[in-house]
Amino acid sequence: MAPRAEHYDREKSFPYPIVERLAELGFLGIPIPEEYGGIGADTVSYVLAVEELSRGDASVGITVAAHTSLGTLPFLYFGTEGQKQEYIPRLAAGEMLWSFGLTEPQAGSDAGNTQTRAELRDGEWVINGTKAFITNSGTRISGGVTITAVTGQMPDGRREITNLIVPTGAPGYSIARDYEKMGWRASDTHELAFVDAHIPEANVLGERGQGLRQFLQILDGGRISVAALSVGLAQACYDASALYARERVQFGKPIADFEAIRFMLAEMATEIELARTMTYKAAWLKDRGRDFRLAAAMAKLNAGEVATRCANRAVQIHGGYGIMEEFPVARYWRDTKIGEIGEGTNQIQMLVISRLLGI
Ligand SMILES: Cc1cc2nc3c(=O)[nH]c(=O)nc-3n(C[C@H](O)[C@H](O)[C@H](O)COP(=O)(O)OP(=O)(O)OC[C@H]3O[C@@H](n4cnc5c(N)ncnc54)[C@H](O)[C@@H]3O)c2cc1C
Repeated sequence: MAPRAEHYDREKSFPYPIVERLAELGFLGIPIPEEYGGIGADTVSYVLAVEELSRGDASVGITVAAHTSLGTLPFLYFGTEGQKQEYIPRLAAGEMLWSFGLTEPQAGSDAGNTQTRAELRDGEWVINGTKAFITNSGTRISGGVTITAVTGQMPDGRREITNLIVPTGAPGYSIARDYEKMGWRASDTHELAFVDAHIPEANVLGERGQGLRQFLQILDGGRISVAALSVGLAQACYDASALYARERVQFGKPIADFEAIRFMLAEMATEIELARTMTYKAAWLKDRGRDFRLAAAMAKLNAGEVATRCANRAVQIHGGYGIMEEFPVARYWRDTKIGEIGEGTNQIQMLVISRLLGI
């Protein structure tokens, strides 16, 4: 994967051959039980895979992470048995990708402020609204998207939010513009438009009115995989920098012989070790059925910051060559920043952490 990452990034093209091969190897169904066609591995194994894939190519890492954590696991956690049978085996086998549409132009961090509406008419949901920045929604193997929509009012007056399953090709559902992204450029991100889009009444994920609770739970788990992605990227920054520092000669010796450079590498390695340990701990807690929310938010916040610091140092160690796209660290630098924004910004992680600490 790694040698081809530069090509896909430059061309901004989705790495179909790599995703197809990953599907054959079972990478698109790692934490999915074998009875639904997955590998049946635990969360620790899944984050190890996301970390290592992201070390080679963060666009591939996010493709697998979004498909698994945001696309497939919601069916496993909340779907009816019929929905599980219908969707999960094909998703775990990588026959199709699935996405989760939460973000909207006016509802980013404030994800509960969904403006997309759906109403029941003649046994069908009729959906109107727009979703923004949706990963894996517009590839030629995208099977559909699960979206949050306002479907009415709760008895206590709050808005009722429901998750709806919208297959690609549903009438009135269109995959709108692609984005010109700074990083994760080979991953697929689209705006989605729903104009009187029709889906069957049965396409409610699990129970009607459970959308808010469901998406909060989805995000808790998703954070661990985005933390793993950042750890993988940070490691890639270290790998490239350690190699370069041994090879680049200035003042008659490898720059690794200068303490200033060695210390940067030592700091990177130390911070990466901590970020990795926090990420595995969150995964381990999840595997044991323990409350992992605080650990996941902390791991994601820390790993995102560590990755951007490591990318900064990596470019610094490469000097002017670090600015040139022919060296991978330029791409790592562009890729790392999204880890501080996607699936909840750093500020939102701090909100979650302070709430869970009872502050
Ligand atoms: C490449 C990419 C892929 C994505 N994939 C998906 C996807 O598959 N599905 C999906 O649903 N979404 C996806 N997203 C959306 C992502 O989750 C949002 O971008 C993110 O949650 C932030 O929302 P926003 O961009 O609207 O920023 P805003 O919410 O407008 O935030 C702007 C700034 O204000 C800060 N801020 C906002 N509220 C507060 C507050 N209460 N306190 C302190 N600071 C605050 C934020 O931290 C940030 O710094 C993706 C985004 C990107 C960039």
